[in-house]
Amino acid sequence: MQDFNYKKSLGQNFLNDKNVLTRIVNCVPFKDNSLVIEVGPGSGNLTRELAKVASQVLCYEIDTRLESILDDSLKECSNVRIIFNDFLKSDINADLKIYKYDNLYLVANLPYYITTPIIEKVITSNLDFKYITVMVQKEVGERFNAKPGMREYNSLTVYLNYYFDIKKEFIVSRNSFTPKPNVDSMVISLIKKDKCLPLKDEEFFNKLLHDAFKYKRKNIRNNLKSYDLNKVLEVLNKYNYDLTVRAEELCLEIFVELANTLKK
Ligand code: SAM
Repeated sequence: MQDFNYKKSLGQNFLNDKNVLTRIVNCVPFKDNSLVIEVGPGSGNLTRELAKVASQVLCYEIDTRLESILDDSLKECSNVRIIFNDFLKSDINADLKIYKYDNLYLVANLPYYITTPIIEKVITSNLDFKYITVMVQKEVGERFNAKPGMREYNSLTVYLNYYFDIKKEFIVSRNSFTPKPNVDSMVISLIKKDKCLPLKDEEFFNKLLHDAFKYKRKNIRNNLKSYDLNKVLEVLNKYNYDLTVRAEELCLEIFVELANTLKK
């Protein structure tokens, strides 16, 4: 790897701490006949550890310059396949058709510049991911895990909490990476809820969340002015709020009820 020209634009900060790699893999309660998707194997550090515990590993790597490095570092791992493509442009549902598995996971040290699009793609794929364990920028991890009223609480927090229980695993120092990034990181697990709250329309729910949080300083009356405000008020009153409340104070259950009430 000595001559490798790391691309900052691709979020290429490779994990060089064996202890951290083992801890990431240990977060996941792997079950029989498992398939793990890894986004961005880089030089294969995490992939090698995953290949030891999972039945099969499928990786997506955008940078074809890593092909020979990965060939070499994964030569002993017969259960790993790498697709050299942009994960965001890949049709994962189609790629998974050739696999037989009982338990699906996603484990990755994510390229930070596309953390949210990756998570959104994974959720909207409708694939049954049992456990998603990812390394993200520490501030982003705090946001995933934020509670109503906290500064970090936003539409993505509510969206994620609808589908998953969020577990903060551990913090990773910037010194564990090559090259060293400017921020610390956090490993976080998203654990699929057995039962989600009933929702009429998931797309409408997501749009409502984006609108409710659109302007951080504005209250619900302003951010949701294109919706039926009488119905919004009716729901809010049940929880002792009115239209002057800000989205960041409202919990998941209220957003679900708002979405179900407002959806025609
Ligand atoms: N897994 C390695 C590790 O932990 O050392 C590398 C992680 S590094 C933070 C992120 C990796 O994602 C890089 O290998 C980068 O080339 C890759 N990557 C960046 N954008 C990508 C994309 N759109 N699709 C697939 N891989 C991508």
